[in-house]
Amino acid sequence: MTLAETARARFTAEFGTDPEGCWCAPGRVNLIGEHVDYAGGLCLPMAIPQVTVVAVRRRSDHLLRVRSSGFDDVDLDLRDRHADGWVAYVAGVIWTLDPPGFTGADIAVASDVPVGAGLSSSAALETSVAVALADLCGLPLDDDGRDRLAAACVRAENDYAGAPTGGLDQRIALHARPGHALLLDFADGSSEHIPFDAEARGLTVLVVDTGTGHELADGQYGQRRREVEDATRLLSVESLRDASSADPIDDPVLRRRARHVIGEIARVREAAELLRAGRIRDLGPLLDASHRSLRDDFEVSCLELDTAVDAAVGAGALGARMVGGGFGGSAIALCEDDRVDPVRQAVADAAARRGLPAPTFLRATASGGARRC
Ligand code: ADP
Ligand code: MG
Repeated sequence: MTLAETARARFTAEFGTDPEGCWCAPGRVNLIGEHVDYAGGLCLPMAIPQVTVVAVRRRSDHLLRVRSSGFDDVDLDLRDRHADGWVAYVAGVIWTLDPPGFTGADIAVASDVPVGAGLSSSAALETSVAVALADLCGLPLDDDGRDRLAAACVRAENDYAGAPTGGLDQRIALHARPGHALLLDFADGSSEHIPFDAEARGLTVLVVDTGTGHELADGQYGQRRREVEDATRLLSVESLRDASSADPIDDPVLRRRARHVIGEIARVREAAELLRAGRIRDLGPLLDASHRSLRDDFEVSCLELDTAVDAAVGAGALGARMVGGGFGGSAIALCEDDRVDPVRQAVADAAARRGLPAPTFLRATASGGARRC
């Protein structure tokens, strides 16, 4: 059964009728450019094949009923404009988008995006709801329309789910193209699709889910954002995008934070150049440098992520780094196809040796964005 069929069956079982349709949106990995989106930086994510599907039928009575296996059933009066827990990711999008003529819905969710693994299940949920609403209510789904949906999803996650995310996740989920990564510029909002056909070149982007929790909504993420703001002020620039060196900052912690951001933005530019030239293998050293910077200067890695990254590189990966907010979640390793199995084995063995949770793996093929399915 496909995931869309699962969502549809769930919908029918729960609500006793057929949905009007099913819409899906992908999770993502960021190839490079971590913790720079809120600093006016650049990043280079791609969508993964794992998606969240929503089966939707509109209602005319202001009720929102949502079902997702593993999560509480929730019935909500949309006029309350307040939601707790996972329904905030759904209702928040309805409230921020406020589509014309929309007065409620039944929604069943099915997903194979790992939740809380740094692969952006939250944006997959928000953006699948957003394209469903847009399609049903006649909002445009061209590039500009998708930009507006992404902005609404960011506001929903910030204002209703209480997670201060910067917009990377929603933009890639809405704009992704198969076989491409997306260079996102957070200074001017522009983007560029860049071919990323790793499979055709005998390469695999292996995702390692360390199975350790991360809490983006908790203090560390907010603290890093504040530190970046402070560093920006100390360097007297509009954003760290405009800074060439962190050296003028006296405070050693803020200097390291700024050094990460400035260096990471330079690495993204270099990575984009390499991909435009078809030199995917040469990304390896940039991934390694990104990880070291996140670990030592930005201090958002952890034992589980460092163990996975070190083991992957030790077993012959071309490069590896933590992805997402940090403090757990996932890492990626760029591997020659024939090194994938040894790398998996080495990563699993290293975790076992240290008594860490057994990691899980998936292959990230650059996939398409939010759509009807
Ligand atoms: P990530 O986006 O990295 O997976 P987040 O903490 O940002 O982690 O988002 C995870 C939250 O998003 C979950 O706790 C839940 O509230 C919501 N969520 C994501 N996917 C689903 C789903 N399939 N069904 C219900 N809620 C979901
Ligand atoms: Mg998220």
